[in-house]
Amino acid sequence: KMNTDIGQHVLKNPGVAQAIVDKAGLKQSDTVLEVGPGSGNLTVKILEQSKKVIAVELDPRMAAEVTKRVQGTPFQKRLDVVLGDVIKTELPYFDVCISNTPYQISSPLVFKLLALSPAPRTCILMFQREFAMRLFAKAGDKLYSRLSVNAQMWAKIDHIMKVGKNNFKPPPAVESSVVRLVPKNPRPQISYEEWDGLLRVCFVRKNKTLRASFLGVTSVLDLLESNYRTWCAQNDISLEEGSAESGLLETEHVPGPAAEDGEEEEEWDGIMDIDDDDDLPDFFKEQAIAKANQVKGTRRKKRGKVTELVREKVRSVLEDKTGLADKRARMCDEGDFLRLLWALNQEGIHFS
Ligand code: SAM
Repeated sequence: KMNTDIGQHVLKNPGVAQAIVDKAGLKQSDTVLEVGPGSGNLTVKILEQSKKVIAVELDPRMAAEVTKRVQGTPFQKRLDVVLGDVIKTELPYFDVCISNTPYQISSPLVFKLLALSPAPRTCILMFQREFAMRLFAKAGDKLYSRLSVNAQMWAKIDHIMKVGKNNFKPPPAVESSVVRLVPKNPRPQISYEEWDGLLRVCFVRKNKTLRASFLGVTSVLDLLESNYRTWCAQNDISLEEGSAESGLLETEHVPGPAAEDGEEEEEWDGIMDIDDDDDLPDFFKEQAIAKANQVKGTRRKKRGKVTELVREKVRSVLEDKTGLADKRARMCDEGDFLRLLWALNQEGIHFS
């Protein structure tokens, strides 16, 4: 009996399995990574078109089954079964990744693949339909999220085909889709932590203006201030320098967004909307919580000049330098976020 806890829905339609492999555009010289081969329905089709398959499988019974399936055939020598969790496994070099992905590891798998260097040439991955749609959603789409902007920064993403639940045994609860990810080559020269950190702040409330997301949330400002202090220390810049120049410290009151659009200052829990939750591999989530708690611990001890300086820097970037203050994250495209990050970084405002 199948253990559905680790997402064992076997692809029973050989036509779909063949179509997935054909979409990969394999060369006979390719090494292919397969995630979760199960009983090997995709595996044998990949072996027909490639040099070697490395199949990472969590379930020992499945690993034994796929090994047995090729025993005594010419495929035997070309299949390497690795027993373990693909997220925790150090991956050897491969050209292409093909996976009927266990859905609970969708997000960490995508980011693991996109962080590899050298990057694979292409990845053909089956996902739950909604996850797939979030991956390739564009600004303004209902499912546009941090996942969309983040993944599209590192890869070109296309929808390949829809796969109905009856093509699986047992049928899963949701529909599926096959997606192609082609990692950008060369990799964009931008820090993953900075990019993801910016998106995290912007998408906590993706329907609010960026002004509200940045200036209306005390803990976001606390985080940016804490990072600003670190950045100044690392670069030998005095905290007072920037402030004296701008004459800001003489300003008695810098109007915040609460005054402007009637929104209350909010506490930020350091994380994000519940519906964005599964975008995050657990170790990122834990880091975010730890950081938020650390910031909360030091909160209000050091309200004052630097706090106002950071607020003013962020305000001027949003309102004067980029003009993005009134835009909402769900309407911002990659170019908007890149402009925003660049302008903030110019002011010494960092997310990591
Ligand atoms: N590839 C087969 C097919 O298409 O018929 C089986 C696909 S089934 C959806 C997912 C497979 O991934 C299962 O065999 C499961 O044991 C395995 N799996 C689940 N979590 C995994 C993980 N973290 N690392 C590696 N394999 C995993």
